[in-house]
Amino acid sequence: MGDRAAVVGAGITGISAAIWLARAGWRVTLIDRGRPGEAQQASYGNAGVLARSSVVPLAMPGLAWQLPRLAADPGGPLFLRRSGLGRLIPWGIALMANATEARARAISAVLARLTTDAIDQHAALAEGTGPERHLRRGEWLWLYRDEAAFRRDARGHALRQAAGFACRPCDMAALGRADPALGPAIGHAVAYPDHGWITDPGAYMAALGQAFAARGGQIVTAEVVAVAPGRVTLRGGAELAAERIIIAAGIWSRPLAEALGLRVPMISERGYHLMLRNPSAMPPVPCMVAGPRVVATPMEGGLRLAGIVELAATEAPPDEAPVALLRRTLRQVWPGLVWTDEEVWMGHRPSTPDSLPLLGEIPGAPGVICAFGGQHVGLTIGPRLGRMAARIARGLAPDIDPGPLAPGRFARRGRGA
Ligand SMILES: Cc1cc2nc3c(=O)[nH]c(=O)nc-3n(C[C@H](O)[C@H](O)[C@H](O)COP(=O)(O)OP(=O)(O)OC[C@H]3O[C@@H](n4cnc5c(N)ncnc54)[C@H](O)[C@@H]3O)c2cc1C
Repeated sequence: MGDRAAVVGAGITGISAAIWLARAGWRVTLIDRGRPGEAQQASYGNAGVLARSSVVPLAMPGLAWQLPRLAADPGGPLFLRRSGLGRLIPWGIALMANATEARARAISAVLARLTTDAIDQHAALAEGTGPERHLRRGEWLWLYRDEAAFRRDARGHALRQAAGFACRPCDMAALGRADPALGPAIGHAVAYPDHGWITDPGAYMAALGQAFAARGGQIVTAEVVAVAPGRVTLRGGAELAAERIIIAAGIWSRPLAEALGLRVPMISERGYHLMLRNPSAMPPVPCMVAGPRVVATPMEGGLRLAGIVELAATEAPPDEAPVALLRRTLRQVWPGLVWTDEEVWMGHRPSTPDSLPLLGEIPGAPGVICAFGGQHVGLTIGPRLGRMAARIARGLAPDIDPGPLAPGRFARRGRGA
């Protein structure tokens, strides 16, 4: 077995793989078009929540009749644009095949194995380095208009409970004292204990990059145009040799893996954030506003509202309607809030039809390993996914059954996991 590895993509997954391989004594080159922590990464702009209890797959029973209603609802989290429909249709058909009670339960159990130790995985990744200062532990709140709205969400909460994540109702008066900007639109809330969040995802990623470099890891700023067993080709023609190559390029992993013959029915679930600098108040812990599915997270740089699922081509420009929904949600839930500056951002959740990532060696491409597809929980599971990819690169078995994550699963059955 060799000891030289190349990792394509310096998002949370790639950087974790790179750090764990470097800790094992490997010579590692981490290649990215940009620097770790820059805005091209989903790992930069996410809501920052280490959502251990997010074990509810996208495809749930009843999705077929909910989708048209969701797509037509201007106050809902789903935005459909015509661009990208070509890829969306086969993905959507595969998604529907997973929208059964049995599949939802099976997928949820795998997700739980990936998410359950997320906080410890982040702590282990960042241990002894600067990045650990961005890691916070705390509750994860879900905010509802009233108790009836909470009850309508029962199926998701039941799946979380089955995975060992039980919530408790909040005392609304105490919540109002802890979050003085919270308005009367919220009449019911529940809290999931033992969660966490990253207080500045961009700075966290940059600091992890520095920690990797401090261990002797090499960071190359270049675009990878092709991967083959033993070799990575950069734009301009330069080549880099490595016994093991990990593809961890988020949504952009797809063309690199497909060129090796792998079927990757993965699309971008585009999401947005609105970062409010110097807000007059902030909730003390991350909150999910349940109707529009907008997350509000207190961060070092201010209050971040993030969410939206926009189904459109990866390369299509950002749109204004999703940002307008973030603003409306802000006005409804925290009506009196003021701030000085703001940032709007759009990024890509790499999403498969079974809500599970691809992890493992690509069939027919010895030494080339997939580690992508973290969808809505890619920040949460990134350290574990990268660490498991590093173990596979070293010839070791991952510490959880990788079967449901096998990269070839879509070729074998043409759908689902
Ligand atoms: C609005 C929003 C909110 C979210 N909130 C949360 C949350 O609260 N909690 C959570 O767990 N997850 C959340 N996510 C999801 C999470 O951010 C992603 O799933 C995760 O960051 C994906 O990480 P990654 O390492 O796979 O990819 P990325 O972070 O996207 O990194 C991929 C990297 O690969 C590089 N790259 C791509 N192609 C090439 C190439 N050919 N050559 C060189 N470099 C290349 C890119 O430049 C990039 O740096 C959210 C996502 C969005 C959009």
